[in-house]
Amino acid sequence: MRTAFILGASAVVLLPLACATSHETRCPTTPVAAAPVAPPAPPPAPAPPAKVDNPLLEKWTGPYGGVPPFAKVKVDQFKPALEAAMDENRKEIVAIANQSEPPTFENTIAAMEDSGRTFNDVQTIFAIWSSTMNDAAFQAVERDMAPKLAAFSDEITQNEKLFKRIETVYKSPEKSKLTPEQQRLAWRVHTTFVRAGAKLDEPSKKRLSEINQRLATLYTNFSQNVLADEENNGLMLEKEADLAGLPDSLKSSAASAAERRGSKGKWLISNTRSAADPFLSYSTRDDLREKVWKNFTNRGDNGDAHDNNKIITEVLKLRAERAKLLGYPTHAHWRLENAMAKTPERAMKLMEDVWTPAVKRVKEEVADMQAIANKEGLKRKLGPWDYRYYAEKVRKAKYDLDENQVKPYLQLDKLREGMFWVAGELLNFSFTPVEGVEVYHPDVKVWEVKDKTSGKHIGLWYFDPYARVGKRSGAWMEAYRIQERFKKPITTIVSNNSNFVKGKEGEPVLISWTDARTLFHEFGHALHGLSSDVTYPTLAGTQVARDYVEFPSQLLEFWMFTPEVLNRFATHYQTGAPIPRELVAKIEKTATFNQGFNTVEYLGSALVDMKLHLAGAQDIDPDAFERDTLKALGMPSEVVMRHRTPQFTHVFAGDGYSAGYYSYLWSDTLCSDAYEAFTEAKGPYDKEVAERLRKNVFSVGDTVDPADGYRAFRGRDPDIAALMRKRGFAKPLPAKKAKTG
Ligand SMILES: [Zn+2]
Repeated sequence: MRTAFILGASAVVLLPLACATSHETRCPTTPVAAAPVAPPAPPPAPAPPAKVDNPLLEKWTGPYGGVPPFAKVKVDQFKPALEAAMDENRKEIVAIANQSEPPTFENTIAAMEDSGRTFNDVQTIFAIWSSTMNDAAFQAVERDMAPKLAAFSDEITQNEKLFKRIETVYKSPEKSKLTPEQQRLAWRVHTTFVRAGAKLDEPSKKRLSEINQRLATLYTNFSQNVLADEENNGLMLEKEADLAGLPDSLKSSAASAAERRGSKGKWLISNTRSAADPFLSYSTRDDLREKVWKNFTNRGDNGDAHDNNKIITEVLKLRAERAKLLGYPTHAHWRLENAMAKTPERAMKLMEDVWTPAVKRVKEEVADMQAIANKEGLKRKLGPWDYRYYAEKVRKAKYDLDENQVKPYLQLDKLREGMFWVAGELLNFSFTPVEGVEVYHPDVKVWEVKDKTSGKHIGLWYFDPYARVGKRSGAWMEAYRIQERFKKPITTIVSNNSNFVKGKEGEPVLISWTDARTLFHEFGHALHGLSSDVTYPTLAGTQVARDYVEFPSQLLEFWMFTPEVLNRFATHYQTGAPIPRELVAKIEKTATFNQGFNTVEYLGSALVDMKLHLAGAQDIDPDAFERDTLKALGMPSEVVMRHRTPQFTHVFAGDGYSAGYYSYLWSDTLCSDAYEAFTEAKGPYDKEVAERLRKNVFSVGDTVDPADGYRAFRGRDPDIAALMRKRGFAKPLPAKKAKTG
């Protein structure tokens, strides 16, 4: 029953790392329709509840210590499998709690680490279906199971006998004889139980569990509402003239999106970021830009059956009540206690420090854009639907750079090879394609990861690169199995998921510069998981504090920009020539371009998130709160929050990033400072710095306090100055030191 604790009240076993600030979905066109999902030759059996007949309940078999049985999965197996696995886990927990032996680390905490294995496996596959194979049938199971899984999580943390045993071990003088990792595990399990209400009296526990079950249902409804508005509220364009300014790739994907809706000969701009952002960047029709922008920013906020405002009000009230029950002033205080920031005040301080220079920069950016707009005859002040469009014009005018010049050099397959090469240089990993391992969709490919020198097996890497219906948008990493070695060595299985648009058969897939960065970002999460070298699974891999977990991934983005990668792997898809130096130089010059906009749209969301969760138990009208908060902050009228409250799934589709959207900025502070450790030494491929990074950050999971791990790597605490330089809010270091990035 280990992993459910990690997520506190959330019942999802493996929280996918949603990569959400500047690395969200970048696929430039509408997702392509999925081929009907037909698992390769499943056995023609119905889904009876008995364990022997449900493949989800069987131990993973096959090579590499077993692999997930994807080919056998059917949606109607999930409910009986989850229920049977919960039952099995319940029995294990009761046996640990009720044993007559006095509590020891081994018979209590280590025994818990060894329990719930079937439940973890089933939940893992359930989570994969939720994010990548989601259809109406699956959604019904999800709605049904969400409160039940939440109740089960509470049932364990509220088991009094179990908690007494944990507390005895945690407070025993014998604890000092345990290894440092065992002591850390005892602390983590104890604090997770306490934070989940283990010390409350019976009526409070009962109320807490009611709250958690209600929240689980509200979260599911929230995300299904956003999905409905994304699927239903696109803009259908009738005439060729409506496409003015759009690149051909966008036109053709809009045409096929319309065709799929039965409107052949028209063009559909879907109501997703991957369709809306490019339209807003290139359409010369400001009337249509305004429409697309309004559709997109009003998701979940249309006063209809999919409106999320009432859900938000209820979620905020329940979260405030839960925090009070648990003894915290607000939900934000509860959430941040175990984060690296520790208190909402420290997170607010960082955000406020960056907010002022970022707003100042937006004003400069707007002035540049307004000048071009006026010259072109625009007779009004720029609106928020104009930002991306005129930013592209400024980029062209100031830097003579057009994204379309870069794209022919960015082939997905080549860049993937580039990432493998970087992993070889920094971590001594090699990647070899594997055939014959079951996948849940034919698009998914699998690689074996080994140590380059010894050939020792490290783990498996699954890659699901393409968009399709039923797959959530954006890009993320997910662990299918977590590394551990306390009973026997178990190697990890990790995956990267993105939403690139599949090319024609045999043609290379070309991606944008920002997509390439996202690719490296997610791979950073994967490497964090693959590098894990710890004893107990609860402390392994990416299961670190939320505001620390984006550090390794954001850090890896820097290597995409190194000349070693560009010269070898950014080659023209037709001529094979490496990307020209002049083009790279232009790209480098634009490194801080539009950072005012990027920072303010992100911080607008992060600040509203934090303030909503500091507001306490009141009846909050989300729209009014958002409006008033932004006004008080001095949000520039030309920028809208990256995620407005009624569509902020990071915060309202689960507890995960609630009062936690600041995490990306926190991690960015660390990674900017960490990269300078390389540039201050011999450069991005300095072996000594890379080894320090592996030893103190990538391999340790949560076995050490992140602040200590960082200090061991850097020799000091992180310094915000590097972040300010990275975003262009402070002067760069002298050229010698700031040679890449
Ligand atoms: Zn990430």
